Amino acid sequence: MLEEKLKILGGAAKYDASCSSSGSGRAGKDGFGNAHMAGICHSWAADGRCISLLKVLMSNECVYNCSYCVNRRGNDVPRATFTPEELAALTAEFYRRNYIEGLFLSSAVVHNPDYTMELMLKTLRILRKSYRFYGYIHLKVIPGADPLLLYEAGLLADRLSVNIELPSEKSLKLLAPQKKKTAIIRPMEAIKSNKLQNLEERKLFTSAPLFAPAGQTTQVIVGATPESDFSILQLTKSLYNRYNMKRVYYSAYIPVGRHPILPGPDRPVPLLREHRLYQADWLLRFYRFDADEIVDSENPNLDLNLDPKCAWALRHPELFPVDINSAEYELLLRVPGIGVTSARRIIEARRHKKLDLDDMRKMGCVIKRAIYFVTAKGRFAATVSPDSPILRDILSEGTPYPQMSLFDTPSTSLLQGGSKLSLSDSTRAALQPVKI
Ligand code: SF4
Repeated sequence: MLEEKLKILGGAAKYDASCSSSGSGRAGKDGFGNAHMAGICHSWAADGRCISLLKVLMSNECVYNCSYCVNRRGNDVPRATFTPEELAALTAEFYRRNYIEGLFLSSAVVHNPDYTMELMLKTLRILRKSYRFYGYIHLKVIPGADPLLLYEAGLLADRLSVNIELPSEKSLKLLAPQKKKTAIIRPMEAIKSNKLQNLEERKLFTSAPLFAPAGQTTQVIVGATPESDFSILQLTKSLYNRYNMKRVYYSAYIPVGRHPILPGPDRPVPLLREHRLYQADWLLRFYRFDADEIVDSENPNLDLNLDPKCAWALRHPELFPVDINSAEYELLLRVPGIGVTSARRIIEARRHKKLDLDDMRKMGCVIKRAIYFVTAKGRFAATVSPDSPILRDILSEGTPYPQMSLFDTPSTSLLQGGSKLSLSDSTRAALQPVKI
């Protein structure tokens, strides 16, 4: 019975991509588990999904009917709900056997948001207080739940997340009419303000309990609705700026729903689009790019054949080539093939000597890309200039890997992800797909 629940609810949770665990350091002396040093290491499947956590739903018996979701009320799938005692015991046992390094707990809406949050919080209370479990917990907040429940969730979990789901209110109204944008935004604001308040409290009382130490994340479903990458990146920027998001995750829509605007199985959303959005997100967070520099209303979608930084450089040949021995740090960051670390190394090293391409290579630069955009010791070493029309073809990556099926052979692909997990039969079962 429990195994059957695990199979159903593990399978139902796999559509959520937002389960990275970085940034939390929960640990204790009188229990077991450690969210940072000992337990959590990220393990990514070949399709980009994180697999180091027990990733389950509390329940898939949803009273909502979001068209894009496998767990919608109108879908004919097996249903199950864990009791808090069952799920807490399962998590503790799996952790002890080293099958997992933490828990990622989400849920469909059972009865109503408060009832669902109560079930999830009871699970966490048992884990933290009865089992004295100090491992990593990522909890999905149910939009519309009472703020007091949200506050308690922040004290029990390391990371909270509220899925924004679709990139616009219009799409939300169309595909998830029971969800309201305000009900999604409000908990994001509350998490942010509770965290700020918690920081102040901890300045006064170092023993004050931590509130969601790993911060908050969210997930956007990409390709279910017609919004462009421009709209998605604008939304991303505002989520980072307004709610101090640790991460925005992108999940290419998997065709499990039925609605005239949803793409069917014959029109899969390319995983490469998800990958390009992650690259663009990286540019926003670490490379000082603005969303409308990466894409704009005239070129609203990312080029699937080029990484976004190369695409930007090709649109701005007037800025290149740059002299690596004198360019500002900000400009070095914009050179394809030069990363944050290598840009810092260049700035440091050029204080002592004039650098050439060989020095750049030793510093970790990707010369096969950078060579078209830099000069070193007064020399431009490429045979093709930055404004050449053929450079696009040279830098084009094409489709680096074939479109993969996410769930045809989950256990195989999970193990290909470099995991050191030894998965038990029941864990494997939890990761099997739900037949839809
Ligand atoms: S609320 Fe909507 S998205 Fe969430 S589980 Fe229910 S049907 Fe799916």
